[in-house]
Formats: sequence, C-alpha cells, structure tokens
Amino acid sequence: MAERFRNFIAGQWAPPATDDYFENRNPAEWTDLIGLFPRSGPEDVRRAVESARRGFAEWSRTPAPVRGEVLHRVGDLLVEHKDRIARAMTREMGKVVLETKGDVQEGIDTAYYAHTEGRRLFGRTVPSELRNKWAMSYRRPIGVAGVITPFNFPLAVPTWKLFPALLCGNAVIWKPSEDVPHTANLLVEVLLEAGLPPEVIQVVHGLGEAAGKALVEHPGVDVISFTGSTETGAIIGATCGRMHKRLSLEMGGKNAMIVLEDADLDLALDGVLWGGFGTTGQRCTATSRLIVQERVHDKLVQLICDRAERLRLGPGLEPSTEVGPLINEAARKKVEYYVGVGQEEGATLATGGAKPAGKAFDCGWFYRPTVLTGVKPGMRVEQEEIFGPVLSVIRVGSLDEAIRVNNDVAYGLSSSIYTRNVNAAFRAMQDLDNGITYVNAPTIGAEAHLPFGGVKQTGNGHREGGWEVYDFYSETKVVYVDYSGKLQRAQIDTEG
Ligand code: NAD
Repeated sequence: MAERFRNFIAGQWAPPATDDYFENRNPAEWTDLIGLFPRSGPEDVRRAVESARRGFAEWSRTPAPVRGEVLHRVGDLLVEHKDRIARAMTREMGKVVLETKGDVQEGIDTAYYAHTEGRRLFGRTVPSELRNKWAMSYRRPIGVAGVITPFNFPLAVPTWKLFPALLCGNAVIWKPSEDVPHTANLLVEVLLEAGLPPEVIQVVHGLGEAAGKALVEHPGVDVISFTGSTETGAIIGATCGRMHKRLSLEMGGKNAMIVLEDADLDLALDGVLWGGFGTTGQRCTATSRLIVQERVHDKLVQLICDRAERLRLGPGLEPSTEVGPLINEAARKKVEYYVGVGQEEGATLATGGAKPAGKAFDCGWFYRPTVLTGVKPGMRVEQEEIFGPVLSVIRVGSLDEAIRVNNDVAYGLSSSIYTRNVNAAFRAMQDLDNGITYVNAPTIGAEAHLPFGGVKQTGNGHREGGWEVYDFYSETKVVYVDYSGKLQRAQIDTEG
C-alpha cells in the first residue's frame, strides 16, 4: 500500500477535504511509487487561509530579530538533514545528488541570510522640511503570502520565497509543484522543528488549475509569489491584476552563452556542458543557445559533441551518473517535439536527438544530450524555451551580431560571454539585455545574497534573493511626528 501524505493546514498534517490523491513517482524508475499526495481543492485553501490569518496575527507581532532566530535554526537543521533531503529530492525530481545537495545548500545560504536581515530590515529617517518635526519610514508585514513553485528546484526556489516572506512577518500558504511534493513536506518538518509557530506555515498540495488557482483567487491572500512557466504566469498575472494583489513573477528563459574567437575554449567547453546539460537542461537559467564566433565554431562544436556523447546518463542516486532523467513524460515529449521542429526548420542534428538505448533506461524519462547546429536567429528552437538537454548553436561574425542575437528573444533571464578581451566583456555587461550576465562562466550559478531575476517576459520587475526581495514582502509605512505644538503645513509653512 502506498503511503498517503498530507497537507499541513491549521497546525496539523491533514488529509484533503476532497479525499482525492495523486501519485508521485520516481522519474528515473517510474515503477518506484514514492507516495500519494493530496489533490486539494478550494475548501482546503479556504481552511488554510483561515488558519494563516490567525498565524499572521501572532507572527507579525513577533520582533524581526526573533523571527530571524527561527530562520537561523532552520539553516542549522538543513545542514543537519542535507544528505537525507537531497536524496529524497533526487528520488522525486531526478537530478543527480550532487545537484540536489547544492539545492539544499542554497536553502541553507538563504536561511542564514534571512537571519541577518532580521537585524536590518532598514527603514529611513530623513530630515523634515519643517522645524520640530520628525520624518521616517519603516517596514511592516503585509499579511498572507501565497507561494507557488516549480519542480526544478524543489527546495531552493521555495526558500527564496518562504524565508524572506516569513522574516518580514507574513504567514505563508505554499502550493508546491505536483511533481515534487515530498521535498515540500520535508521542508515544512524542518520549519516546525525550528520553532516556527504552526499556523504561520500551511502547505496545500494539488494541481495548479485547482489548488493553485484557488490560492491566487482567494481574497484573504494578499501577496502572490510565483515561479514557473511564462504561460502560467500570464494566467496568474491576469487574476492578480483584477484583484489588485501584489505579485512577483519569475518565469522562463532562453539563455545564451556567447563564445568569442579569443576565448579560452577549454573553459567555454566545460561551461557549456554544465550550463546546457546540468539538471538535464531543466533550469530557468540553462544555456539553451550557444552563440559562437565563426573562427572557433567548428572546433568548439566538435569538442562539445565528443564530450556530450560521453556524459553518463542514469538515475541521479547513482554516484557515477552525470545526467538524470527529465521530470515526466510530458517534458520528454516536449523535447522530442522541439528536436523535430528544429530539423524541419533546417537545423542539423549534430548529436543526441533520441532516448538512450538500453534496458536500464526503459522505465525512466531519459533523453540524450542533444546539439542542433546551423540554427538561425528567429527559428523556434532559437526563440522558445524547450526546458530539456537541447543546445541550439548559432554562428555569428562579430560581437555586435552576438549581442543582437542574444537580445532578440522574448525572455531576458541570464546570459554569458567567454572572452579574454576586457573591452568586449564590458560591452557585453552593458548591452546584453538580461537580469544576470556572467563573464567567463556559464549562464547558471546564482548566489543567494544577490538579487535574482530577469527582464522582458521572464519577470514583472521584481527580484528574488539578496536584499531586494525584502522590499517585495514588506509594506513601507511613513510616519511624521510633529512636536512643534502648532499646525505646520507641508509645502506651505516651509520658511522659518
Ligand atoms: P509550471 O508553470 O507548469 O508550474 C509552476 C507551478 O504553478 C506549479 O506549482 C503548478 O502546479 C502551478 N500552476 C499551474 N497552473 C496554475 C494556475 N492556473 N494557477 C496557479 N498555479 C498554477 O512550471 P514548471 O513546469 O513546474 O517549471 C518550469 C518553468 O519554471 C520553466 O518555464 C522555468 O523557466 C521556470 N522557472 C523559472 C525560474 C525563475 O526564477 N525565473 C526558476 C525556476 C523555474
């Protein structure tokens, strides 16, 4: 009998009001059933909101440095349980254990950063334009934050949202991805063990169109933070616009690495393999386009294909595995579809383009690392997010052309340039139209204490990580104290 996991609502592990469940299976071995998780509906969300409002009343009055102490303990517990959580995460998400450990580490870094922010949360005090008057601002908690997260970073991305939201004094209702619900429960166990008051955190499992939609539409949820596809973000954005909800959107990418002819090719080679095929290409910052200057194009493509063919595919729990499976059947179908589209558009399949052969891969969503060459700007495989191990290679003549190709897509998350020329590097830093640019490093590798996010269709102007996210989860209030004992009119009585 498969284990039935529960939601966490009103301070308890609770079965769904719907009495309905969905399966969670290992993407590397789909006969391995991890468990059944609640397929929740609006009634579960309603109960969670009721409880979260009570949690908010208590938590918002807890001093921020004390809230920070709880997050420090969360960091300590994540250190303690890192290995166990990483292994559970690999089992349900598929990426290799080295990467899931990195995923937990990002949560640890985010927890310790949040702890220190509890003693900052700066407001401002400024001189008033009038005598005997004090003018200042401070930050207040907002209320209940609804958090909706994707499958590819089962722990790190949720912590980017949960920890700053909690540190700022909000209560949180979290709808994790239906592909990775187990990691969510493990994280909640850690939060409770660290001493978070139980009604401050709620987890409502389920599908996006039911549980996620109900969360976004509930009037008792003041803030929505979403990471996922641009299509889902557009639906959520329309609802939040209609309801005047504060909303942070972190969405898709079509990230490019530029390699100029003066680059260290060995370095670029390591970078493109990690950026393109790490996490099986399922990162919002994955390197999905390689823009290469003419003179080094053929050599670099050859080196990439040789190495890509030797990458070891397999279950992420096996130490020798370098590339795990895709998350599910739909993801592999999408990759197969795009590899077909690319060839119909005139690209050449240089390597990959198929499921790996062999019995070991029969029951997993594996796909070989794939390189498409002869890709032209404007082709669909050059413009659209594939979210799999597919690298589209575009040949260019100059840095100007490379920058134009990089910028001419709807997304704007991450970019990278390999060059030894300092002028070219600075030109790229200035002109690449992305939220993040790496120099002599691949398009992935964000650090927790710097803001993270993208421009254009990747986001709606907010950032996660670093200090900026604390603006999103707090409301700025301004206070004037007039101790002159008389009516002083701003903008009128400014003289004397
Ligand atoms: P997805 O959009 O399918 O799902 C994300 C979450 O939204 C899930 O929890 C899902 O249940 C929920 N959801 C779906 N429909 C909903 C609806 N109508 N209302 C409310 N919630 C709904 O994304 P995914 O496949 O899990 O993740 C991959 C996508 O996430 C890629 O596009 C990737 O680029 C993006 N991503 C972006 C970042 C970033 O920071 N920019 C980070 C990681 C992933």
